[in-house]
Amino acid sequence: MLKSHVKFHSVEGKRLILIVDDEAANRALLGLITEDEYEVLYAEDGAEALRLMRENAAYLSIVLLDLSMPEVNGFEVMEQARADEALSDIPIIVLTSELEAEVKSLQMGAVDFIPKPFNMPEVIKARIQKAIELHESRTIIQSTEREGKTGLFNKEYFYRYGEQFDGFHPDMPMDAVSIDINHFHLINELYGRRKGDEVLVHLADYLKNLRRETNCIVGRIEGDKFYIYTPANKIEYGIVSREINSHFDEFHDINVSVRTGIYQNVDKSIDIERRFDRAVLASNMIKGDYSRLVAYYDAKTHEKKLFEERLLAEVGDAVRQGQFYVNYQPKYNIKGDEPVLASAEALVRWNHPYLGVISPGVFIPLLEDNGLIHMIDRFVWEEVVRCLGDWKKEGVSVPVSINVSRMDLYNRNLREDIDGLLESHDLDRSDLYMEITESSYSDDVDQILEVVDNLHEAGFLIEMDDFGTGYSSLSMLAEAPIDVLKMDMRFIQNLNNDRQEAMIRMIMDIAAFMGLLVVAEGVETKEQVDFLKSTGCDIIQGFYFSKPLSAEDFEKRLRDEKER
Ligand code: C2E
Ligand code: MG
Ligand code: MG
Repeated sequence: MLKSHVKFHSVEGKRLILIVDDEAANRALLGLITEDEYEVLYAEDGAEALRLMRENAAYLSIVLLDLSMPEVNGFEVMEQARADEALSDIPIIVLTSELEAEVKSLQMGAVDFIPKPFNMPEVIKARIQKAIELHESRTIIQSTEREGKTGLFNKEYFYRYGEQFDGFHPDMPMDAVSIDINHFHLINELYGRRKGDEVLVHLADYLKNLRRETNCIVGRIEGDKFYIYTPANKIEYGIVSREINSHFDEFHDINVSVRTGIYQNVDKSIDIERRFDRAVLASNMIKGDYSRLVAYYDAKTHEKKLFEERLLAEVGDAVRQGQFYVNYQPKYNIKGDEPVLASAEALVRWNHPYLGVISPGVFIPLLEDNGLIHMIDRFVWEEVVRCLGDWKKEGVSVPVSINVSRMDLYNRNLREDIDGLLESHDLDRSDLYMEITESSYSDDVDQILEVVDNLHEAGFLIEMDDFGTGYSSLSMLAEAPIDVLKMDMRFIQNLNNDRQEAMIRMIMDIAAFMGLLVVAEGVETKEQVDFLKSTGCDIIQGFYFSKPLSAEDFEKRLRDEKER
């Protein structure tokens, strides 16, 4: 435990001061001046002063000490305090009307003096505050508890300070708040680290002001992450977030904004670090969503997070233990009178021993975010070429689409890897189609285009999956080497008015103009099929024709189709 020099005492977060004077009128007057800002203790003589100092050594912010008192006078109090390790660190301001005494007391270690009579309350208040601030900053800097750039508490000290506060106020409801600057690394990269530092200091200044107004505890935890620990209901988070963002308007040239995650009314039975993890969790929920400034932690989010962590931790073993398998969903060509089985999409499934079958919609995005997706995709591809190899030998195969995740596209050897798999089962590039989601193309366009170009040139058929959900659609269509548009299933499933129909017809027109085939996904009803047929749509995938099938069932379907 660090030795703490900053004292935060009363329920309101007020600092504790001790007024020592033998004259009741002086005590009352000083009390009047200070009581709204501080919690105040009083002593009538030196002995009582020393006793109160010992009792409150851990929390006392300052002592206002009269010099001339009967019995133990002010000088003696100072002497004894200085000799006592527990008291030597408490700053003392002397109260005196004698000029000589001032010099002597300063020499003895008093931090300041207040002349009697007390006729300038504002000056007295300012001196007390200044003395406390100076003392606190000095001790904090001495023990490297503040970090250099912003002068805020560093992580270690922030936590210890928070714990100390809790120790004094075990029953006070508290909020844990995390503030992050959106895409801070970009600010550093685009405008230089110095600008980045300016942004940090600017935010820190705002937070210092907030600290002054609300008595919250503020720390810079790392990089662009700031924490606030505050009594609940003291800060209007929505207002503060908006204020911070407009505070950044000063940076005319760059657009700076923050996101705020709040864990309200913290559970004090968990570590303070974990409480802030929860605030961060909330903040991460709105990462990248610039329309939301503030997010609150809730248990559901937390459970989801725990669930996700569990899946992530288990995925490696699950692959080795064969918990994953592949389904095949047929795609039918509807150009002619009779629909014809044209190809299929390989869709992965996770049969978890306790959780049952988990949808890829749940674990794929998770694995993509954590860079583990290649494990699954590799497994799926191996599985697909193994089955395809068998089917081809039997003479019943159709091409199968695999889903290539945007993470796979960062693998520069993707083509070689897949070629290797095909060769080992006597397959050709024309046996495998590749579905790449449209949103992949908005990541790192150049790199992705290079890999996709490479695949396309080699002869793989490229399908743009979930077309219409990304945001780069039209411009990307012109640039990316695409053969097939897979229209996102939302288009079909919302097909209930003229405008939706017009949308689909427009997509069909664009595709025709660009010479692309169109696959409609999520087709469930006869009406949808008929409509799509009327628009010139080529291929349909959906429950209307078939749900995703196990490898055995799909093989059966292949054989049936062959016999027709
Ligand atoms: P996707 O590639 O767009 O796949 C189509 C999804 O639509 C599949 O969901 C499929 O089961 C579902 N679907 C098909 N027909 C219908 C229908 O008529 N009605 C409805 N409501 N749904 C239909 P699934 O299997 O849950 O897969 C979800 C997503 O997970 C896929 O979307 C794909 O992006 C991803 N995914 C699946 N398998 C893999 C894989 O092996 N690798 C990668 N990277 N992603 C995969
Ligand atoms: Mg797909
Ligand atoms: Mg799709």
